[in-house]
Amino acid sequence: MIVQFLGAARTVTGSCHLLETPSGRLLLDCGMYQGSASLERRNSGTYWPDPTTLNYVLLSHAHIDHCGLIPRLVSQGFRGRILATSATIDLAKILLADSAHIQEEDAKYLRKRWAKHGHPGEPPEPLYTAAEAEHAMRVFRPVPYNEIIELDSRLAVRFHDAGHILGSAAIEVIVQEDQGERVLVFSGDLGTPNRPLLRNPSTLERADYLLTESTYGYRFHEPPEERSEKFLAIIHETADRGGRLIIPSFSVGRTQDLLYEINNFVEGGMLKPLPVYVDSPLAISATKIFEAHPECFDAATHELLTKGDDPFEFPGLQFTRTVEESKQINELPGPCIIISASGMCTAGRIRHHLKHALPQAKNTVLFVGFQARGTLGRRLREGENPVRIFGREVPVAATIRTMNAFSAHADQPGLLDWFAHFQPPPTFTACVHGEELAAFELATKIETQYKARTYVPHWQEEVDLGDEASLRRLAVEQRWDIEWDFD
Ligand SMILES: [Zn+2]
Repeated sequence: MIVQFLGAARTVTGSCHLLETPSGRLLLDCGMYQGSASLERRNSGTYWPDPTTLNYVLLSHAHIDHCGLIPRLVSQGFRGRILATSATIDLAKILLADSAHIQEEDAKYLRKRWAKHGHPGEPPEPLYTAAEAEHAMRVFRPVPYNEIIELDSRLAVRFHDAGHILGSAAIEVIVQEDQGERVLVFSGDLGTPNRPLLRNPSTLERADYLLTESTYGYRFHEPPEERSEKFLAIIHETADRGGRLIIPSFSVGRTQDLLYEINNFVEGGMLKPLPVYVDSPLAISATKIFEAHPECFDAATHELLTKGDDPFEFPGLQFTRTVEESKQINELPGPCIIISASGMCTAGRIRHHLKHALPQAKNTVLFVGFQARGTLGRRLREGENPVRIFGREVPVAATIRTMNAFSAHADQPGLLDWFAHFQPPPTFTACVHGEELAAFELATKIETQYKARTYVPHWQEEVDLGDEASLRRLAVEQRWDIEWDFD
């Protein structure tokens, strides 16, 4: 088995790995890069293998940095099948349609500017159109959790609940090689245990090779019991000042977690109802999909739903669909909560809300998710002032807060706990989906605690998993890298 790291190598977005097996070539995820311009240039996919030679895409979950380039892959000739859970397929459908829409709009805007001001080179084209996104949905095939799916006599896969977002999976790839059976596990994105709504990530016991995410490989989240307290305190603090609480949030997953918490505050009498706006048409559709997949929820939520208590409905909650409604929110006086996408403030309505809210000291911006390098969210969190939004300088007087406890990603202890279930440890573990510091820190911890060989791959690097000598050489090189980075 040969693996090539085509994305999310020493960075968080663009998840994509090519796996060459005796029965064909598969991609693990086909995600979009988000963040700096140099990363986003990779979205053209020029480094891909010929899409017509690929047999399968195994999709871990519906976040755009994991599935965002699928329509491009299909329009460039991919004729295989895309396997994912049915909740992932439902979510991917709306997320890809939304992504296509954003790209079409961006390309239109740039073409207009280029025509007006002149620009050398070809006019920009969207990565894919809404029609291409829709067309790509035809090659998706649903797979259930926990069942071994035989793709042919030498290749089987099994999806396990990753507890990250609705439908998310860690994927086991079982390959019959000439030397015997080998199992590769791809973690996808791993959730934290004891989160509302979703089940805990499933643990797996066998892997010869492991590709594990490392987003928070160097961080410890606040304990979940402190999370509600802190969140409630931030809401009260902002409301007491008469301010708005702006929460940039991924439409899928995080928004529903936040609603679940606020629902508990309001129904438990801890919070006087105040206007809560979910200002993202995508979040509205995603919330509907959540309601349509009760099979993905944990026992507590399941019980709540069967009793008829909808956690996504409480006094004060309003969903806004149209741009007009969205604009009106900024005209309204008084305290309120605005939850809007995108989570890293790279696009969408959140940027309008920030433009209005940032200059006033009574407002709060609360970050509840990972902010990739180069994004507006990351710059705000790191204290940049003023920030540029829509080409204008916007002064930052609002309070900027961060709560990692809402993260849908396991922290360092969570990742190590999950790893500990593999007995014996995998012979090769690649730490992907993390910026260098996080990936190296996790790799080092796994090596020292479990005496397991780890590696932080480079973008486009190819590793022959069956070649013991080359794996050993990588481990030595890695030690050099670590010494350079940390000594
Ligand atoms: Zn994710």
